[in-house]
Order: sequence, then C-alpha cells, then structure tokens
Amino acid sequence: MSSATLLAVPLTRTPPPLADQVQAALAAGADLVELRVDRLGDPDPVARLLEQPAPCPYVLTIRSAAEGGAWQAGEAERLSLYLRLGRLGPGYLDLEYASWAHSEDIRQRIGGLCCGAGGGSSPDGGGTPSGGSQLILSHHDFRGTPADLDAVVRPLFDAEPAVVKAVFMAHDAIDAWRVLDLLRRRGPGRRLIALAMGEAGLLTRVLAPKFSGFLVFATLDAAGATAPGQPTVRELLEVYRWREVGPATRVFGVVGWPVTHSRSPHVHNAAMSAAGIDGVLVPMPVAPDYADFAAFMDWLTARPEFDVAGLCVTIPHKVHALRWLTDHGFAVEPLARRAGAVNTLTRAEDGWRGDNTDVAGVLAALQTAAGALGTPDARPDVAVLGAGGAARATVVALQSLGCRVTVYNRMSRRAAGLAAELGCAWAPWEDRARARAPIVINATSVGMQPHVDAVPVDPAALDPGTVVFDLVYTPAETRLLREACRHGCRIVSGVEMFIAQAAAQFELWHNRPAPRDILRAVLAG
Ligand code: NAP
Repeated sequence: MSSATLLAVPLTRTPPPLADQVQAALAAGADLVELRVDRLGDPDPVARLLEQPAPCPYVLTIRSAAEGGAWQAGEAERLSLYLRLGRLGPGYLDLEYASWAHSEDIRQRIGGLCCGAGGGSSPDGGGTPSGGSQLILSHHDFRGTPADLDAVVRPLFDAEPAVVKAVFMAHDAIDAWRVLDLLRRRGPGRRLIALAMGEAGLLTRVLAPKFSGFLVFATLDAAGATAPGQPTVRELLEVYRWREVGPATRVFGVVGWPVTHSRSPHVHNAAMSAAGIDGVLVPMPVAPDYADFAAFMDWLTARPEFDVAGLCVTIPHKVHALRWLTDHGFAVEPLARRAGAVNTLTRAEDGWRGDNTDVAGVLAALQTAAGALGTPDARPDVAVLGAGGAARATVVALQSLGCRVTVYNRMSRRAAGLAAELGCAWAPWEDRARARAPIVINATSVGMQPHVDAVPVDPAALDPGTVVFDLVYTPAETRLLREACRHGCRIVSGVEMFIAQAAAQFELWHNRPAPRDILRAVLAG
C-alpha cells in the first residue's frame, strides 16, 4: 500500500549546488526537500533556487539555536530572512511555536506570508504575493519526552497552522510509542508531524505512515542528519520498506539494550517482503532492568491498537521475558522454560506466548554437518564452551536429543551452576583442549567482532574430523572455524543458527514456511 506520508530530505550544506542536491533527493525517493537556511549559511543560493521553477515543494526552515538549530544572529534578522525567502513561495515555512507565540509582529508578518487563518490550512487562501506557503508550527525538545505530550501540542493546534510538528528526544521505546500515540489520537482533519529523536526514535519514523503522520525526515547520507537518530532515505526505503507501511501493517520489533546493531530488522523485513506479508520489524530499545522490560510489555499489552504482533528478544531481556510471561500466567514453550530464556514473543488473542528459537537453531545448524548428530540410539558426546544464555540453549537442545554434554567455562562457578541446574557434566576451562568430544561448540563470545583474532580453544589441539560449531556469527567465518577447517575438522557457522532461529521466529509469527534463501542472502549482503 502506498503511503500518504511525505518523505523530506533536509539540505544542510553546499557544495554540491542546491539544485543538484534537490535532484539527488528526488531520485533517491524524496517527496520534498527542507532547506535548512540556518545551516546552509549563505541565503543567496537558497533565494536563487526558490526563484527557479520548483521540481517539488520546499520546506523553508531557519531553526533557532534554542530549538537545536544553527542560527546565531538575532530574531529580527531571522524574521527578515524568513520574509525575504518566504515571499518566493517555498511551499512550506517551518517556524517554532515559541517564536510565534512570543511576538505579535511575527504572527502578523509570517502569518501574512502563509495561507489560511493563523497561517492556516487553506493552501489557496491568503492572497500573499507568493500565492501562500503553508505554515508548519514546530516544537523541538532535545531533553526528553515529557509526561504530558497533549499539553505540549494543544497550543500548537490552537494556533491553527497548516501543519503541527512536535519532536522529542526518546530515551527508550516507550517514549517513542507515546510520540506515535499523538499521531493516532490527533483528531480528524489535523496534519501532524510527530517524531522522536535518538536511536529509540527510529520506530516513529518507520511507523509514521501507519498512523498517517504528515511527514518524515531522512537524509541522503548520515553526515546530513539534522536530528539525532535520523535515518537515511535508503535505510528507510530499503531496510524498512517504508512505502509499503500503511494503516493495516502489523508491527514486529526487536527488544534489547542496545539493539541498534541487530540484524533482525534486515532479515525479517526482507523475508516479509518476499512472502508478501504486510508487516514491518523495527528496533525497540528497552533499558536493561527487569522493571524497564516489564513496564514496556505492560504498556504495549494494554494497547492492542498498535498492532504489535511479535517481538524478537535479545540481550539483556531474554531472561526477563520468561519472568514476565510467568508472572502474567502466559504460555511458555517447555524448552524455553528449561533454557531459562525466551527470545521470541508472539501476541495471541489471550495475551502472549514465549518461545526460544535458539534451541531449534542449534539443532538445525548441526544438522548441516551430515550425520554429526548420530542416531537416536547413538548420540555423540558434546563439549560446550561457555555458560551464558546461548550455552544454556545449546545444552537444552542437545539434551533434548539425548546427547551427553560437558560444559567448560572461564568462570567455573557458572559452569558448575549450569551443570547442576540442567543435569549435565562440567569440567575446568583449562581442560577444554583435551575434551576429545566428536562435537565441540563455542557458545562464548570469544572471536566475535571486533576481537576477531581471538579463539576460545586452540584449533590445532582438536582431533581432525571433529565437528566444530561456532555460535559467533559476526564474522560469518571466525578464526576458530578457519583454522579448524585447515586442521581437518568439519565446521558449522553461527550463521546457520542465526538463519534457523530467525526462520523459526518467522514461522511462529506468520504460520508459513520462511524464505530461508532470502534470510541467507540478507545476512551475506
Ligand atoms: P553471554 O550470556 O554474555 O555469555 C558469554 C559467555 O562468553 C560466557 O560463558 C563468558 O564466560 C564467555 N566469555 C566471554 N568472554 C570470554 C573470554 N575472554 N574468555 C573466555 N570466555 C569468555 O552471551 P550469550 O548470549 O551466551 O552469547 C554468546 C555468543 O553466542 C555471542 O557471540 C552471541 O553472538 C552468540 N549467539 C549466536 C546466536 C546465533 O544465532 N548464531 C544466537 C545466540 C547467541 P564467563 O561466564 O566466564 O564470563
């Protein structure tokens, strides 16, 4: 479904010439361009651009320093520049509500430039020399998202501009959802730009078309960002398939802290696109404590109108998710309960259900090494390095098949604890190279980017023919796997597990086979 929400690219610097940048923005997929005169510095190139026939509407903005802009001179100079450039009919003129409310002179003169009552909503009205630009009255809060957002936006609507713009700094996903809620509740006929800044604010930009936001900003390149967390046009259109987001789009998320570098949006959005599913998955950063996670889940659960249908759960919330589901009496799949962690939440009519697709992912990955898992009557012994969350899922998965598992961990206390709880063996970390098991699994984070030269065990100490499975998937081929392969071992990459666990999530949420080739291609890309 095509979205009525407009995509605007802010232009903040020259060279290249502004006209070339406008063409580049349109070619990239923008609907209009914001001319950030406060950042551009010299207004003359802006005036020359506005004098030419316009290939798209422009938003004219001279942002005050008080609201995050770069304007250094006084208000009188700013007003006279607004008047000079505004007379050239940019299309939209963005002024802070604080300035509008503060000065009758500004209201008279800017209002006179813009069409409609109070600078208001009739695009053809006003009888100004330019034919009338439309007034955007804006508010920017770089400190946070206040508790009472309605109290902030009400006076802006009361001034009856063509468009109200309210932008807040989001510290976590609840802040961002509360900003989106402004869009949902804005009332008929009102045009509203409601965005959250910061990494947590990305979901307000991706989901604006679902709630009929008027406009979203995205940059041509990261250096051109005019607010923290502003995405690039490419990211929005390609990773989040923004043009396909609409009122009926179901929402999925990845919940963690931090969560910005998660690959889940890339793989799930590409998979949903390939399968023709109207859904989008966005990062939802939630602060690290259980109380933060519980508050987020309680908030979301009370608001089914947001259409959140499923969540990937990542560090540090996998354990919290199990606790929250248990506290609320929601269903937890038995292996997830045994693993002590939930990495997938699926919304059902009567609440939520928790699964751990890492467990299935471990087995699916090992199945890529033909025969490695033996037969039901003859399962191999397995050495698992690590005693964290991934190691737990690994042990539970292998035990579900009947394998005998020995855990080795740097901190013996954790190895002993995990072994006692799950009923497997453990041995000191120093003994790991003498494990002599036919399958050796690295479930530590050793070898993960950026420490790609580290190995959790000397590959040369392993017997040739040993199946070596490294859960680390960034990089796809770790030093452990490279050297173990050279030494005659059979290797399994963590990428196989990542694909399998993502595919299992897809199948839980969408009830159809996952396009594994797409998942693989996205991860390889
Ligand atoms: P975690 O709970 O933080 O556990 C980390 C483990 O690594 C602990 O056992 C820790 O030992 C060990 N460790 C860390 N630094 C070490 C070092 N320098 N020397 C020896 N041991 C060290 O993390 P996790 O969630 O289990 O994740 C572990 C790895 O699995 C990560 O790389 C993660 O990306 C990967 N993973 C992959 C997939 C996939 O789909 N492929 C899925 C889940 C996880 P101590 O207890 O002694 O600190």
